[in-house]
Amino acid sequence: MPNLSFVTPTRNSPWGTYLSQIDAVEPYLGKLARWVETLRRPKRALIVDIPIELDNGTIAHYEGFRVQHSLTRGPGKGGVRYHPDVTLEEVMALSAWMTIKNAAVNLPYGGAKGGIRLDPKQLSLKELEKVTRRYTSEIGIIIGPTQDIPAPDVNTNGQIMAWMMDTYSMNVGATATGVVTGKPIPLGGSLGRVAATGRGVFVVGREAMRRLNVPMEGARVAVQGFGNVGSVAAKMFAANGAKVVAVQDHTGTIHNDTGLDMQDLLDHVARVGGVAGFKGAEAIANEDFWDVKTDVLIPAALEGQITAERAKRLHTRIVLEGANGPTTPDGDAVLAERGIIVVPDVIANAGGVTVSYFEWVQDFSSFFWTEDEINVRLDKILIGAFKGIWETSEQHRIPLRTAAFTVACTRVLQAREERGLYP
Ligand code: GLU
Repeated sequence: MPNLSFVTPTRNSPWGTYLSQIDAVEPYLGKLARWVETLRRPKRALIVDIPIELDNGTIAHYEGFRVQHSLTRGPGKGGVRYHPDVTLEEVMALSAWMTIKNAAVNLPYGGAKGGIRLDPKQLSLKELEKVTRRYTSEIGIIIGPTQDIPAPDVNTNGQIMAWMMDTYSMNVGATATGVVTGKPIPLGGSLGRVAATGRGVFVVGREAMRRLNVPMEGARVAVQGFGNVGSVAAKMFAANGAKVVAVQDHTGTIHNDTGLDMQDLLDHVARVGGVAGFKGAEAIANEDFWDVKTDVLIPAALEGQITAERAKRLHTRIVLEGANGPTTPDGDAVLAERGIIVVPDVIANAGGVTVSYFEWVQDFSSFFWTEDEINVRLDKILIGAFKGIWETSEQHRIPLRTAAFTVACTRVLQAREERGLYP
């Protein structure tokens, strides 16, 4: 492991996971391997203090981050996460996965990510707005429409993007719609952006199922995480003939062997805030989620979920990574040994950033597309990218993750070489 003083990864921690993925791709980079060390360190990492006055008059401080892993192929791009477990190490890994993801689908971006270490459920709306605005001001020295463009991630949404856009705009004295994506439609947001990540998970999953001869009709699907990614993906699988047999979220795990009624479940979650207590299913223990018999298992929550222990228990043919970094290196090794195909995050969940790119392009040209145009272009990009990765995987007889990294790292390092070292 390279010796960076500001991070101490372990084998299965987020940055450790990313480093082991880079180790795996190195033999497939040919002469470009000379540049691979570039990928093992972030270009730039900013740590900011965010003080705000709480509603009760006390002053609270939060830790905020923005990491630009690579700006080689274009501006930084990647979401902002609000979570009590956010660390510099996690944001570094997430920013690096954005570099790989953006290159894997050939978007003209580098990779970046941001985060604030806080539990948004503990804050009022006013407090959340203050944190967001102060954070945006603090990272304002490195973000911008042609520098680095944040977007939603875990626990952030269109409202947060609106505050970020407004704060940045006030600071520069001009309305800069292109500084963030995932904005509400009236502020230059794009149709289809909210559903894009989940839609992409479905589209890429369907391609993988075709290649592996897993019929969609009646396919058994389980989803961990029922937020913006998991819920949309589950709904699309069900609408296309699959059976969603289990769902887990932060409130609990539910199971129904004949398939959950998606509309009823979505209504229930909208009403009570989580899947627990849903009448159309039996509650099972959280750990039993990993034993449910499925064709497609979709981790769509946080990193590090599919450990070696859980990987040994899975009864599935395909792991379709809706989350970023849900499988540890040890988990990956067990899945490979057991012949379970992993469709990696960097292609499976790339639909979100792809429509973010469409949003950014629309903002720059001040010309907006129909939802149909968005979805047709999104599907085309993802299907094309998946095909290239599948073929690379067959050519070298390597897992899809290593194939995706081969395609992506080749693009990044080719650009690196052509730009040359400065000075
Ligand atoms: N947070 C999303 C991701 O992990 C989207 C990032 C973006 O749209 O820039 O890919």
